Amino acid sequence: MIKVCPKCGSIHINWIAGGVAGAVYKCDDCEYVGAFILEVRANELGRFQEEMRKTGTE
Ligand SMILES: [Zn+2]
Repeated sequence: MIKVCPKCGSIHINWIAGGVAGAVYKCDDCEYVGAFILEVRANELGRFQEEMRKTGTE
């Protein structure tokens, strides 16, 4: 599974914190920071990112 930004669809996700409160991730391609992250299978990543582009607001 590959971690994907729920906001922009980027795979450039960095794990920045974690512990009892849960993991926190940061996206390199937008300013998203949060515990919620999407995970997609490697063979579905291309299709997923295509969907993000189609439905994206930017
Ligand atoms: Zn992002």
